[in-house]
Amino acid sequence: MDIQLSPDQIAIQESVSRICGRFGDDYWTRCDEEARFPEEFYRAMADGGWLGIAMPVELGGSGLGVTEAAVMMHTVGRGGGGYAAASSIHLNIFGPHAIVVHGTEEQKRRMLVPLIKGEQKACFGVTEPNAGLDTTSIETFARRTNEGYIVKGRKVWTTTAQEADKILLLTRTARKEDGKRPTEGMTLFYTTLDRSKVEVRRIPKMGRAAVDSNTVFIDDLFVPDEDRIGEEGKGFRYLLDSLNPERILIAAEAIGLGRDALNRAAIYARERKVFGRPIGQNQGIQHPLAECWAYLESAWWMCLRAASLYDAKQPCGAEANASKLLGARAAFNACTKSMMTHGGMGYAREYQIERLLRESMIPMLAPVSEQLILSFIAENVLGQPKSY
Ligand SMILES: Cc1cc2nc3c(=O)[nH]c(=O)nc-3n(C[C@H](O)[C@H](O)[C@H](O)COP(=O)(O)OP(=O)(O)OC[C@H]3O[C@@H](n4cnc5c(N)ncnc54)[C@H](O)[C@@H]3O)c2cc1C
Repeated sequence: MDIQLSPDQIAIQESVSRICGRFGDDYWTRCDEEARFPEEFYRAMADGGWLGIAMPVELGGSGLGVTEAAVMMHTVGRGGGGYAAASSIHLNIFGPHAIVVHGTEEQKRRMLVPLIKGEQKACFGVTEPNAGLDTTSIETFARRTNEGYIVKGRKVWTTTAQEADKILLLTRTARKEDGKRPTEGMTLFYTTLDRSKVEVRRIPKMGRAAVDSNTVFIDDLFVPDEDRIGEEGKGFRYLLDSLNPERILIAAEAIGLGRDALNRAAIYARERKVFGRPIGQNQGIQHPLAECWAYLESAWWMCLRAASLYDAKQPCGAEANASKLLGARAAFNACTKSMMTHGGMGYAREYQIERLLRESMIPMLAPVSEQLILSFIAENVLGQPKSY
């Protein structure tokens, strides 16, 4: 057992941290206030070759594991840009995993190379207004036609759809009630986001304004056969491959964001003097911050354990879910305690904590809720009956 980062993983941390260091609080405040995509940050990460960290070497990626991707996204999350930074590149890292595993050689080259180079952006269209977490109840339907499909339906919360050239799209090609199992009859496509057939409407939201979230209306979008990933009807299964890495990465980003909030609180607690001494001299200030450190640290090692199990091709569902639960809570807690440490100034934009606090709600809600994580663990680890 070797519970520490390897020299290569530390080198990843240092290099990514140097890139993050080029984008200060002013930059992220402006992106947030102007709801402007952090193109310069995205470009810097693409130019550094980081978007393909977990993509196959023969396609221009680095061929590293989810552990290295987690180390990288943890560093991005703690670099000052929080979720705005992390979400601007998140999808590139493991979103297209279904294509890596189930795409043809031609598809991998056509679809993944531009993503790795940062020449194209993609979005991820799974969630629907009438289905929510019950993914098998999606209604977006792909009807077979000559040499392709005609897709009609609606997606919600699709991140970066304002920016994206492509969409990874989960559809039904057979009705749920007609299959033997609810997961049958779903088909996955990776196709051009043709804006003459797809209307993308931005959702005004609480935080991370720099990275858009949208309702997506799809009206008779033609998708050629060559844009279907794998076999018709098996799309849900293909998507499952990327769920654990996604949870691990979301957790890593959350923990990074929490560490940034905690670090800012520690600095403020040392510098701010009230009653003639630093506020950090009071245990009422010290202890909550120390507790945040302990929770963030334990969430981080759970996250790395899940990642190393995944990379060793071992089952990691419980650990990936647990790290998402713990990471999100630890981050939200760190942001809250950081705001309390800053007193009134925590509420001022200048100190950045309110931005991080708003963003720390994202991993609490997405991509899967606490309740469903707990139901998963109750069922799969503790042997309880399935409750949903
Ligand atoms: C900022 C942001 C970005 C996102 N980006 C994307 C994206 O890029 N692509 C995408 O496809 N989706 C995206 N999502 C959607 C996200 O994955 C969903 O919001 C999430 O899966 C929850 O679905 P829902 O909002 O429909 O909640 P619902 O399914 O409506 O659930 C509402 C609440 O009820 C609870 N609940 C429901 N059923 C049960 C049950 N059986 N037992 C216990 N509790 C239950 C849930 O836990 C939750 O608390 C994003 C969401 C956000 C907020």
